[in-house]
Amino acid sequence: MKIRRRARLDPSQVQDRRGLSGGGLAVGGGGIGLVIAVVIVVINAVSGGSPSSVEQTLRDLSGVTIGEGQTPSELSQCRTGADARTSEDCRVVAYVNSIQEYWDGQVRGYRESPTVFFSGRTSSGCGPATTEVGPFYCPPDSTVYIDLGFFQELTDRFGAQGGPLAQAYVLAHEYGHHVQDLLGLFDRGGGTGQGPESQSVRTELQADCYAGVWAAHAVDTGFVTQITDQDLADALDAAAAVGDDRIQRETQGTVDPESWTHGSSAERRRWFRTGYATGDPKACDTFTGSI
Ligand SMILES: [Zn+2]
Repeated sequence: MKIRRRARLDPSQVQDRRGLSGGGLAVGGGGIGLVIAVVIVVINAVSGGSPSSVEQTLRDLSGVTIGEGQTPSELSQCRTGADARTSEDCRVVAYVNSIQEYWDGQVRGYRESPTVFFSGRTSSGCGPATTEVGPFYCPPDSTVYIDLGFFQELTDRFGAQGGPLAQAYVLAHEYGHHVQDLLGLFDRGGGTGQGPESQSVRTELQADCYAGVWAAHAVDTGFVTQITDQDLADALDAAAAVGDDRIQRETQGTVDPESWTHGSSAERRRWFRTGYATGDPKACDTFTGSI
């Protein structure tokens, strides 16, 4: 799976909060803090400001919550598919663009949902979040949050093979939750409880199925060249790697279905495959019958 060279990317769908901590400037956070400091020094040099006023300005800035559209970011350099072939950031922008392009054509009144790149920790409409929780969708602020270090974890910690469609699957799963949100699923109490037939597992498996549906149409969106058998195998492998039973077996040595929240490896594979094979969101009814 490659990104089409001439695809036009829309980096405004992704916000970059890496190097920021909890919404403020990270101490010694490198690039961004430095750029702002340099700009202030220049302004003060021109206006004849003293060093103490520079410090004052920096202190004030560090208390500012940097939110939407205010973050200096290299993501604005993500313009075409050619950029996505040389930069991981731009490649993820392309995935997000493709996923939303698809759902925009499927869900009446679709509203774009941003993806936020963060590192370490960040604030969200669902409270403070750290890398440890993994990528997530937050319904109150309709935003996907991801530390891209998760892609490395997917192979190192969860033992997945990795690959481009495996990574895109992670994003497509989170956008599956956004679609559920738009369809009012969370208002109806979806997504709670534990156990093999719980609402939580049904919600997660539907998001996997929706990810498969997007993959079936990824080429149609104009962002992706083709999905090969290897790509599909990578995605199914990633879905299996994050199955509750496998994670439990590896972390606690035993499998306890009563505490499942996402579904087994076999179920996660099966629902992604169902979405991919049918290409039809209606085939993703994980809420009726047994799973
Ligand atoms: Zn999920």
